[in-house]
Amino acid sequence: MDFDDTPDEAAFRAEAVSWLEKNAELKKPGEKTAGGLERDDPDTIAAAKAWQARKADAGWACITWPKEYGGRGGTSIQNVIWGQEEGRYAVPPNMFMIGLGMAGPTLMAHATPEQQKRWLPKMIRGEEIWCQLFSEPAAGSDLANLRTSAVRDGDDWIVNGQKIWTSGAHYCDWGIVVTRTDPAVRKHAGLTYFVVDMKSPGVACRPIKQISGGANFNEVFFNDARIPDTQRISEVGNGWAVAITTLMNERSSIGGGGVGGGVGFRDLLDLASSVELDGRPAIEDGAIQEKMADYYVRQKGLQFTSNRALTALSRGETPGPGGSIGKLVAAKMRQEMAALAMELQGEVGGLLDTQLTADEAGWQQAYLWAPGMRIAGGTDEIMRNIIAERVLRLPPEPRIDKEVAFREIPTG
Ligand SMILES: Cc1cc2nc3c(=O)[nH]c(=O)nc-3n(C[C@H](O)[C@H](O)[C@H](O)COP(=O)(O)OP(=O)(O)OC[C@H]3O[C@@H](n4cnc5c(N)ncnc54)[C@H](O)[C@@H]3O)c2cc1C
Repeated sequence: MDFDDTPDEAAFRAEAVSWLEKNAELKKPGEKTAGGLERDDPDTIAAAKAWQARKADAGWACITWPKEYGGRGGTSIQNVIWGQEEGRYAVPPNMFMIGLGMAGPTLMAHATPEQQKRWLPKMIRGEEIWCQLFSEPAAGSDLANLRTSAVRDGDDWIVNGQKIWTSGAHYCDWGIVVTRTDPAVRKHAGLTYFVVDMKSPGVACRPIKQISGGANFNEVFFNDARIPDTQRISEVGNGWAVAITTLMNERSSIGGGGVGGGVGFRDLLDLASSVELDGRPAIEDGAIQEKMADYYVRQKGLQFTSNRALTALSRGETPGPGGSIGKLVAAKMRQEMAALAMELQGEVGGLLDTQLTADEAGWQQAYLWAPGMRIAGGTDEIMRNIIAERVLRLPPEPRIDKEVAFREIPTG
């Protein structure tokens, strides 16, 4: 397979590299990308905002967004090339994924020109950060089961209910929220989509402590919160269609990448070669070799699956639902690799101290982060359902509550 850049792609890459060289420092050899979720301190946020603004000024902030919305009007493959090149530099973490990757494309597709003008420019420059208020205690994989209600009151909507797992809600300025505006119709039909000011009265965040020690998630409570009707996106009752736009963009922005931490197969091989098991380098042990061979094969499978998607992008096509395979395989594999790495590290394997553990505790971070990656953006089981139904064309799951009025669906 030939994955050389086309002449156009090579020219774009050269332009990107030339700008990056002048504006950022290359990562030091062996320097890892920031892993885990602990990146919400004010200095990191300020640095991330400054980097985003600098990219926006130079036209690198939103490669695929159309020019009329302030983007570069580039192609998806150019976006991939930019990501590859930017990834080689020591730049602040990207805190704008929900805004730029999900809320922005949704607003471009469904919002009014006034709404787009209000939110998109500040989103591109990183001046305002966005969160996604979709999941609820009884609505995750089955998002259309959500219960947060919005009731019209003059020019406003009064919102009551609870969201959960809202990443970054505590430092975000705006949120995209799906609410139930009509419980008398079937569950997908009674939903309406809004943008909410996260600092408005009646919106309260409560952090959820994570296994890693950080607290990037939140519960978000709406207690008679008022959302102006001017912040409604699309028609009343059309929330499901708008939410699907967000979810499609979520899948493509987290796709097969981003499974936490910066450690990989090569680091595990180095570790297995440098530590001892029963008086010999661990890599000489048959059981370790068997595991390493298995990870190598899976890693190659992922690489070729990703190459197929890149080929589609390079040809201007849209990669198919096969992309679901990437996250499913990668997240589980990294969890297994991290567990092996911690085992190989012996007594220090259970420590999070970056001074005491190899790879700056990257394996420990990857291990603690892995269960979340197997859930976020669609759980393993949901990914398997997608692969079964849309890739393998197996018969769909029975969905018996699809045509029933929401308020008549029995609840536990
Ligand atoms: C790191 C992380 C970040 C997140 N950030 C956000 C965010 O910013 N905003 C937001 O709104 N949400 C966020 N979430 C929530 C995430 O979208 C949900 O956790 C996810 O959709 C799963 O929903 P749930 O937790 O309610 O689990 P459930 O849907 O209740 O699933 C419970 C179990 O049942 C299984 N299951 C459910 N349905 C089926 C089915 N049809 N077939 C087979 N098995 C099934 C699931 O696979 C799972 O094992 C985040 C989650 C994580 C882990």
